[in-house]
Amino acid sequence: MTTIVVGAGPAGLEAARVLVRRGEDVVVLEANPHIGGRTYTDRTRLCYGQPADLGGSLIDLGQDKILAVCAELGIELTSQFALFPAEPDGSYSAASHVRNPIVLDGALLAECAQQRIAEEVSDALARTPPEPTEPVSAWTRRSGVSAGARTALAGVTGYNPVSHPALVPMGEIHPPTTGRVVWMLADGTDAVTRAMAGGLDIRLEQPVRLIRRTQGGVVVETDHDTFAADDVVVATPVIPTLAIGFDPVLPEWKSSALLSTPMSQGGKVIGQYSHGAAIAQRLPRTALGDGQVTTLWTRAVGPHDSIVVLGFVPDRGDGASHDEERALRALDNLVRTASGVPARRLSGILKDWTQDEYAGGVVSMLFGDRIRLQALLAAGVGPIHFCGEHTANMWATAIDGAMRSGERAADEVMQRRGSIR
Ligand SMILES: Cc1cc2nc3c(=O)[nH]c(=O)nc-3n(C[C@H](O)[C@H](O)[C@H](O)COP(=O)(O)OP(=O)(O)OC[C@H]3O[C@@H](n4cnc5c(N)ncnc54)[C@H](O)[C@@H]3O)c2cc1C
Repeated sequence: MTTIVVGAGPAGLEAARVLVRRGEDVVVLEANPHIGGRTYTDRTRLCYGQPADLGGSLIDLGQDKILAVCAELGIELTSQFALFPAEPDGSYSAASHVRNPIVLDGALLAECAQQRIAEEVSDALARTPPEPTEPVSAWTRRSGVSAGARTALAGVTGYNPVSHPALVPMGEIHPPTTGRVVWMLADGTDAVTRAMAGGLDIRLEQPVRLIRRTQGGVVVETDHDTFAADDVVVATPVIPTLAIGFDPVLPEWKSSALLSTPMSQGGKVIGQYSHGAAIAQRLPRTALGDGQVTTLWTRAVGPHDSIVVLGFVPDRGDGASHDEERALRALDNLVRTASGVPARRLSGILKDWTQDEYAGGVVSMLFGDRIRLQALLAAGVGPIHFCGEHTANMWATAIDGAMRSGERAADEVMQRRGSIR
């Protein structure tokens, strides 16, 4: 029996791997000239062949699926680190985020001022407990924290998710569910997706435009070819899925679930700098800023004392996330001000995910009635199955969740075959 998988990101690749293992004939159709989707790593633009993770890069403690796939395929992790320290009593809260260096109005907050902001946020959280659904900007007003604390917390929403503080509910940042213990992949994030692709039949530059149900199964049309199969696994992000034609049209509950799931918008800016050891020493975790780059973290020191610094540029409508030189200059300023090191930029790159037709943004923003929405996003329609980070009931938005969802979609195909082995 044959299955077509649409999209060669971690979800589609995991679905394909599982199906092939169970004896299915699988063809993966990918729109881009490369695999990986939002895990794509550029290896051409930084000096000394250093990898630039243009999309996902951090793996969290508890993301056992991706950790298992890395172990299976022999993919090396970096050493573990934390994105922020614990509170003095060992717990974690939204205040933990702001215990890192903070640059406000182009100046680094003195450590005592920054600790004061962290204490202020911590006290406000105890005094005025936030509702999980309350936007960050609403809670900071309601709790009456200072302008400095408001700006610092707004900076946190530029990191996870990459969005506007008025759109991010407090439940996303308090208490923090990620960032306490993280790893990256030593050779860049798509080391894992490239290894997963080994041995699969993947057709690149085959953007799928139409999925038609037939008596016997499905017909899938791309810009260049037509493929017939028994089942299809749609492993594309929310917005690109909405751009595919379905005949007959998807049921109303499915289209309205897709239409109700916005994606965060913005880009990732990556710079490579001199004075790597000094920067690594001053910025062991993350730094926050109120400028165009809202947060940064580093890779390990590389050749010739260079260091790769990764940052987020949320799309706040000022054009910064579309303008490479502007974003890199903003990163230069944040790196130099937060570290106090007069580093020279050796190379740099901006990836604007908002303008990427086959991504449609950074990640899904599953706020509100999340459990119901995820169930609807994940549900299949006859021989059409759906996976991707937005459909995962565990670690949604992350690479781990995407892989889990691919495995679940493959199970659904095999259930239709009546032959789970
Ligand atoms: C800037 C950024 C930072 C992130 N940070 C992290 C992080 O630190 N940790 C983490 O775990 N996750 C992170 N993520 C999220 C992570 O990258 C995604 O969760 C993961 O890549 C989703 O996998 P997926 O397979 O669902 O989708 P994708 O990776 O987007 O793969 C979908 C594939 O479908 C293809 N496609 C789309 N439309 C079509 C079509 N019509 N026909 C054929 N192919 C099509 C795309 O080209 C793509 O290859 C980040 C993402 C971004 C953008």
